Amino acid sequence: MRRKNRDHLSLLCDIGELADLLTGSENIFTFLQRTVEMVARHLDAHVCSIYLYEHGSQDLVLAATVGLNPQAVGKIRMKLGEGLVGTTLALRKPLAVDKATSDSNFKYFKEADEDRFESFLAVPIQRGEEKIGVLVVQHERESFFLQSDIDALRASASQLAGSIESARLMMELDLSHNKEEGHLDLTDLKLIRGETASAGYAYAPVVVYKKTQGFLLSDAAARDEDAGYSLDDFREAVSQTSQQLKEMETAFVERLPESASLIFTAHFMILKDPSFVTKMVNLIEDGMNPPDAIRTVANMYIRIFSSSPHAYMQEKANDVEDLGGRILRNLIQKNSREPSIGQKRIVISKELFPSDVMKLASDEVQAIILVGGGITSHISILARSLDIPLVITDNKELLHLPGGTMAIVDADVGNIYIDPAPEVVRTHEERQKTRKTAVSVQSAMLDETRTRDGERVCLLANINLLSEVRLSLALKAEGVGLYRTEFPFLVRSNFPTEEEQYVVYRKLLDQMENRPVTIRTLDAGGDKILAYSDVVDEDNPALGLRSIRFSLKMKEVFVQQIRAILRAGAGRKNLRIMFPMISSLDEFSQARSVVEESMAGLTAEGLDFHPNPEVGMMVELPAVIETIDEFARAADFFSIGTNDFVQYMLAVDRGNKRVAEYFCPYHPSVLRALSKIARAGETAGIDVSVCGEMAHEAEYIPFLLGIGIRSLSVNAKDLPAVQARITGLSMADAREHAEKLLAETTLSGARRVLESFDRGTAE
Ligand code: PEP
Ligand code: MG
Repeated sequence: MRRKNRDHLSLLCDIGELADLLTGSENIFTFLQRTVEMVARHLDAHVCSIYLYEHGSQDLVLAATVGLNPQAVGKIRMKLGEGLVGTTLALRKPLAVDKATSDSNFKYFKEADEDRFESFLAVPIQRGEEKIGVLVVQHERESFFLQSDIDALRASASQLAGSIESARLMMELDLSHNKEEGHLDLTDLKLIRGETASAGYAYAPVVVYKKTQGFLLSDAAARDEDAGYSLDDFREAVSQTSQQLKEMETAFVERLPESASLIFTAHFMILKDPSFVTKMVNLIEDGMNPPDAIRTVANMYIRIFSSSPHAYMQEKANDVEDLGGRILRNLIQKNSREPSIGQKRIVISKELFPSDVMKLASDEVQAIILVGGGITSHISILARSLDIPLVITDNKELLHLPGGTMAIVDADVGNIYIDPAPEVVRTHEERQKTRKTAVSVQSAMLDETRTRDGERVCLLANINLLSEVRLSLALKAEGVGLYRTEFPFLVRSNFPTEEEQYVVYRKLLDQMENRPVTIRTLDAGGDKILAYSDVVDEDNPALGLRSIRFSLKMKEVFVQQIRAILRAGAGRKNLRIMFPMISSLDEFSQARSVVEESMAGLTAEGLDFHPNPEVGMMVELPAVIETIDEFARAADFFSIGTNDFVQYMLAVDRGNKRVAEYFCPYHPSVLRALSKIARAGETAGIDVSVCGEMAHEAEYIPFLLGIGIRSLSVNAKDLPAVQARITGLSMADAREHAEKLLAETTLSGARRVLESFDRGTAE
């Protein structure tokens, strides 16, 4: 029997537009309801329902349905493993039954009125190990659903997981009371020396960002102004907040396409939660002044979220804090022309997540001072990509600085000046002008890079955020040698959907216009911790479940990413997929077969994709050196990640300043290993590039060329200096230099040879 062709692609596209769906919903219940209606429509199903898993009771509860009796919502409950729905979640696998009423697991609920529906198809909704619920479709006719429906429903469920998880949290929320007070102290700090994590300069008023208390939620100074607001003022502030979120989201699409929708999704979700705003309204009606009502309710939510053992739940406390602060600002500052806190300020904070940096960027923060706390290298990379100066210091007094104090952050050298004298300000502002002119002169780049004696070297860009592509192209990058896909994963509170990733990768490929683009699959873990992933409490994260290991374990997430990359590459040339942290041939072929499986899936679904991308690997682990010739035959290309390679080879944490002196890329074993990798690539006829920091460091470039490397991938801003370095070199000198270095057996000897190079060639 022929049936109507169900529209799976448009289902996925529609689900990809979740943020819109959420924006258009009055609350989270209507959001779930719209979701089931949409899925039912696309799959031609008579019934579509979402059951949510309650962590407390460990029950699955019917939360939204189309086709079953709407009165049953909230009433039908079952245990894990009970009935077809409970079995689906217990087994964590899709369950398709052609004749449900005769299935031994079928459980009849008279409230639901569902014995008419024979075809039953359910998929678990989960995020990582986290159980979220079950998405079910049913049809009166037997054997109605096809394999392609299962695939589409499964893909939908994984795309929905994040948003549904947030919705579920809001519904389960059980409020308790909490109030906290903030305290500010005056100190007379003047010049503080810190360490630069992202260069740049700013002169602006400071604000102390306390993650646990928020910008305004417990700002004592604001309390004088609390009186005199009405319920109408409050409602206006809420609607203004909603409007601002929409505007910010639109502005973000331009600046940071990676995070455009979901950064604000959580905020919308909370704002739409009936209990959040209603609780505030109730308090105001009971006589509390509106600013205190906002603080009280927001602080209750913050307390509940912060006390969760899950990092991704704790992240939600930040969202509430942000949102509460925004409502409060809109209420209190409605007639004031002052910039809101965070805007155009220098932010001082004890700890930061990547998502904080993103939010601060949207507030046009001028610079960040991070006090004490650890910093992951990705916070610095992110700040650099967003062009936000970032200095790290141990001076805790800064945390007590009164808001509004003027400061200079000279992140080019790592200096912070508090309340600087006019003379200091003038000197700095003038120096800034000179620096800017120097930068613009630098950018007279040649289209092709050659050594003095004509050897061609390919210069590629490392891209972390799409916003860096423009500069890379302006500086004549010939392609992208490393696109770090972590950022769309790092900046939000759940895994980005296939659709969201597709949009980002497609934009990248479009902008690079057929120049080679190497997309590295997720390199999570280690210093790139996903706030929402449960794998955070490892004793030794650098050696833990990270990178390709994480992807191969979280197969659904991996497949979605590969599918998004392949689909984005449709009709494009030069797509290269790269796996990070490969440790064995087995691991490489396992990862490669995921690409093949994904292609087969896409073919079966009739979707367009790139049919033959090059599939290569990062060389970052010493383990691959002994079998490097075999790897060179298995992979289509190598890219050497010297940051990790040196870290693992020499057992030196790349981010630990206390052992920075041991991080020696010129260690004889490192140099010889690099030469071996280059030779293996040359013998097998594959491309070998270097994409770690070593690639842009002037002292190592002659060595890298000398051992045969002809492709370097560096941060866009380093392209001019790297090109200038190469055009000044001769290959004969570079080869001779490499030979000398490879003959050295000690660190001191290698250091001497390195230092002699420029002296020798200048003579
Ligand atoms: C490296 O390890 O050298 C590399 C380029 O990857 P990342 O810095 O992203 O770990
Ligand atoms: Mg690495």
